[in-house]
Amino acid sequence: MPSSASSRFDVAIIGAGPTGLFAVFELGLLGLNAVLIDTLDKPGGQCAELYPEKPIYDIPSWPVISGQELTDKLMEQIAPFKPEFRLGQQVSQITRREDGIFVVETDAGNSLEAGAVFIAAGAGSFTPRKPKLDGLEAYEGRSIFYAVRNRAEFKGRDIVIAGGGDSALDWTNNLASEAKSLTLVHRSDRFRAAPASVAKMRELESAGKVRFVQGDLSALEGEAGRLSTIRIKAGTETVTVPAERLLAFYGLNIELGPIGDWGLDLAEGKQIRVDTEKFQTSTPGVFAIGDINYYPGKLKLILSGFHEAALASHAAFKVVRPDEKLRFQYTTSSTELQQRLQVSTKAEAA
Ligand SMILES: Cc1cc2nc3c(=O)[nH]c(=O)nc-3n(C[C@H](O)[C@H](O)[C@H](O)COP(=O)(O)OP(=O)(O)OC[C@H]3O[C@@H](n4cnc5c(N)ncnc54)[C@H](O)[C@@H]3O)c2cc1C
Repeated sequence: MPSSASSRFDVAIIGAGPTGLFAVFELGLLGLNAVLIDTLDKPGGQCAELYPEKPIYDIPSWPVISGQELTDKLMEQIAPFKPEFRLGQQVSQITRREDGIFVVETDAGNSLEAGAVFIAAGAGSFTPRKPKLDGLEAYEGRSIFYAVRNRAEFKGRDIVIAGGGDSALDWTNNLASEAKSLTLVHRSDRFRAAPASVAKMRELESAGKVRFVQGDLSALEGEAGRLSTIRIKAGTETVTVPAERLLAFYGLNIELGPIGDWGLDLAEGKQIRVDTEKFQTSTPGVFAIGDINYYPGKLKLILSGFHEAALASHAAFKVVRPDEKLRFQYTTSSTELQQRLQVSTKAEAA
C-alpha cells in the first residue's frame, strides 16, 4: 500500500469502504489523485469489518462475492492509481482556506490538503467498545490499547488481552512467544473465534505460555499512566495479574462522530443531505457518497455508492480543475484512459 509523505491531493476521501475505494477509480480515470483516510486499520469498511466471509449476491456481474473478496477486487482495480492510505485515524475536522483549498485534520494530529473532499463515511466511524473501568483514560494510548499498531510496544511485557473473539485469540497466539507473560481474560470458556485459533491458544496454555482466566476485568492499578497490575473478578474470587499492557477487544461501535459538527445540512441528524446531480453537500466542494448521504429514494446498497462515486467525481473535476474541459470517454475505446489504467488493448486488436 503506498504511503509516501505527500500531503497535497486533488481529493481527500474520508472512509475507505467500498464507496470510498471505488471513488479512487472514478477520480483516477479523470486524472485526479486521492488519499483515503479511515478510522479502521484496513480498507473495506462494513464489508471487511462486519461481514468479510458473508456472500453478497447483488454486486453487478458478480453472482456471488464475499465482503473481503469485494474489498480485495476493489483494491486490485484501484492499484494503477496508487492511492495513499492514512489508516487508523479519524478525520476530526475539515476547513476551507481562503484560497479554496480544504485542510483535513485527523485525531492523530496529522493534516493534509485537498482541492475537494468526498465524505464516504458509511454509518460513521467504527470505534472500539471500551471496558468500563475507573481511571481507564489515564492509561489509554500508553498502557491500554484497542488495536496493535506497533508490535514493539508489547515485546517483553506483561500483557493482558481481554475478549473472546478473533482479534483477542489471534493476538494471544501471536504475542505469546514474545511477551514476558500473557493472560487472556474472557467471561466465558466459550469463544467466538475460529476453532483453530481456540485450539492453538489451548496448546499455548498447556505449554505454560498463556494463562487463561475466566472472569471480568474489575480494576486497574498503576501510576502516571503506567499500568502495573489488573484485578479480575473470577466468580467469587478476585485474581490479580501482572499487566504492563492491556489489549481490550470488546468489538466496535459505529457512531457518526465528528462529522455532525462540520456544519453540513443533515437529515435526521445522522445523514448528509446531497443533491442527486453531483452528490454535493451544503458546502460547495464537499461531496457525500455511499451510506452516509441522504436524498429522496436513497437505497443503502453498495451499487448506489458506486454510481454516486462516478457522478461526484465528474463534479469534483470541475472544482479541482476549473480551467480544464472534461471529456466523457469510455474505458473500452479511450487510449488516454487505458494509459491511466496501465492496460493496453493492442493485443486484443491484433
Ligand atoms: C451484515 C451486512 C450485510 C450487508 N449485505 C449487503 C448486500 O448484500 N448488498 C449490499 O449492497 N449491501 C449490503 N450491506 C450494506 C453495505 O455493506 C453498505 O451499503 C456499504 O458498506 C456502504 O459502503 P460505504 O463505503 O458507503 O460505507 P462503509 O462500508 O460503512 O465504510 C465507511 C468507512 O468510513 C470510515 N469513517 C467514518 N467516519 C470516519 C471519519 N470521521 N474518519 C475516518 N474514517 C471514517 C469508517 O470507519 C468505515 O470504514 C450489508 C451490510 C451489513 C452490515
